[in-house]
Amino acid sequence: MNNYGIDIWSDDNFMIEDGLAKINYDCKPSLISIVKDIRKQDFKGPLLLRFPHITEKQVNTLYNTFNSSIKEYDYKGTFNAVFPLKVNQLPNFIHPLINEGKKFNYGLEAGSKAELVIAMTYNNVGSPITVNGFKDKEMIHLGFIAKSMGHNITIIIEGLNELEIIIEVLNETKMECPNIGLRVRLHSGGSGLWAKSGGINSKFGLTSTEILEAYELMEDNNLVKYLTMIHFHIGSAMNSIKPLKKALRESGHIYAELKNLGATNLNSINIGGGLAVEYNAYERTRFYSLTEFANDVIFTLKDIAKQKGVDEPNIFTESGRFISAASTVLVAPVLELFSAEYDFDHLKLKDVNPPLIQELHDLYRDMSKKTAYEYMHDSIDHMESLLTLFDLGYIDLQDRSNAEILTHQVIKKAISLLEIDHYEELKKLDENIQEKYLLNFSLFQSLPDYWGIDQEFPIMPITHLDKKPTRSASLWDITCDSDGELPFDLKKPLYLHDVNLNKEDYFIAFFNVGAYQDTLGMKHNLFSHPTEVNIVFKNGEVVLEKILESQKIIDILEDIDYDTNDIRARLRKNLNDHNYKDIEKYLNENSYLKTIWSYHE
Ligand SMILES: *Cc1c(COP(=O)(O)O)cnc(C)c1O
Repeated sequence: MNNYGIDIWSDDNFMIEDGLAKINYDCKPSLISIVKDIRKQDFKGPLLLRFPHITEKQVNTLYNTFNSSIKEYDYKGTFNAVFPLKVNQLPNFIHPLINEGKKFNYGLEAGSKAELVIAMTYNNVGSPITVNGFKDKEMIHLGFIAKSMGHNITIIIEGLNELEIIIEVLNETKMECPNIGLRVRLHSGGSGLWAKSGGINSKFGLTSTEILEAYELMEDNNLVKYLTMIHFHIGSAMNSIKPLKKALRESGHIYAELKNLGATNLNSINIGGGLAVEYNAYERTRFYSLTEFANDVIFTLKDIAKQKGVDEPNIFTESGRFISAASTVLVAPVLELFSAEYDFDHLKLKDVNPPLIQELHDLYRDMSKKTAYEYMHDSIDHMESLLTLFDLGYIDLQDRSNAEILTHQVIKKAISLLEIDHYEELKKLDENIQEKYLLNFSLFQSLPDYWGIDQEFPIMPITHLDKKPTRSASLWDITCDSDGELPFDLKKPLYLHDVNLNKEDYFIAFFNVGAYQDTLGMKHNLFSHPTEVNIVFKNGEVVLEKILESQKIIDILEDIDYDTNDIRARLRKNLNDHNYKDIEKYLNENSYLKTIWSYHE
């Protein structure tokens, strides 16, 4: 049975039972039951389902794993973590995270002024805030203001000029100085798609010369007492721990050297993010466990501290992908199967048909499992000949339509007769036998990393999981852009079910979409964020919390700076009352399709 790799990517968060994808938690509801409940409230487009319990699980796992490693190695430093806001800033994700994080003192990391404002406003006071990225005077001033609110904030400088700005703000405002961290530019690079974040040629961090200069500058300005943290981030989704170990050695020694120079309050190493998530449905790509990761960090830092005779540093991590990816599932309704138009209902055979069409008909009628492969091949040949006859004017449009329908029906019958094992063989025979599934979503909005960097996401239908999927599938979104497609890939084949959408709904889910996709998504064709819902469990029941409807058309237009009063006034002037009322209704709905316009209905 095809389980869509759920044992590889789902970390037991989801399960298959009775043919349904279910949430492996509490009352174990099926995804389809949740989707139906939401659709009853007239949300027919794509849905973004968030599961705060999965975020909680990740936060708990992170702390528990590191803390047990600390115990095992009798490590003297503490474990601390912050969530990097750039990975997911949306309130429906962030609020439950902050709530859950309180017991651990879990904090936030900000990389821009807007993110810093979120951190200052919502972070549990006392939990750490770290500030990364390029900063101007305003951003550093914001950091000082956060400090004055009682926040435990560390400004991590990326360059000497930022230290100079800190001194300026200090002198101008006479406010209390936040903690200072130094981001080091490592000699060792990262691994994986995002390796650019680390390494000597990376965009970020101070070289050894600059670190020494920064230290001098801090000494001259009596700031050494604020230096508390060494920071590095070697890139997202590391597929191996090796580069991390190198980076730990390098930064561990820098930490120890600075301590020995006289940085008495320097007490932490911030190892950035980088913990990978399994996105693959075909083979494991993540070659380490969190326990191995934690053990390596603790062991290496302990070793260096011993060697150099300094205190073992407190550890900070900023992993965001690990915390957030699994918490969110995108569910897209299938609007249409491309070959639905080749239904037998539409076949209109004449009293006398061209011989090849009669033969197609016979191929269909006489096909058995044994002859399926051969007959399918023949039907494709016939089809090609019939298309040539059409081009030469020997058959008419009705004949051509009949030929297309019969050929598709022959292929469909062959596929259902043959075992799925043969399927890759079938695919080689002809590209045309792939089924195209039109999905009510925008790939650009909801899976931007697929479009931008070929990031895979696990894909699985949420029903029919006890039936053999028989169609090699390519998925199309509803944007008018040919890039809005997930084509069938022989190396990672996706098979879906042959469903009759006039009789039943069929939904495709994309998993592990909680990291980066939300705000990276773009409004191509003016499709905005899907309707999103937090799914929480209370007393053994599912509660749909915080339904946030996809943006209304009028608001999307306002977002791209149209004057909505002008839009309304112009439409008003040119339409009668009746039509204007209709258009006003549409302006207040979202852009996704409610139904497909179809003559079957
Ligand atoms: C992006 C980023 C992170 C998050 O990394 P993930 O690997 O996605 O968890 C952490 N720290 C810094 C400085 C970052 O820029």
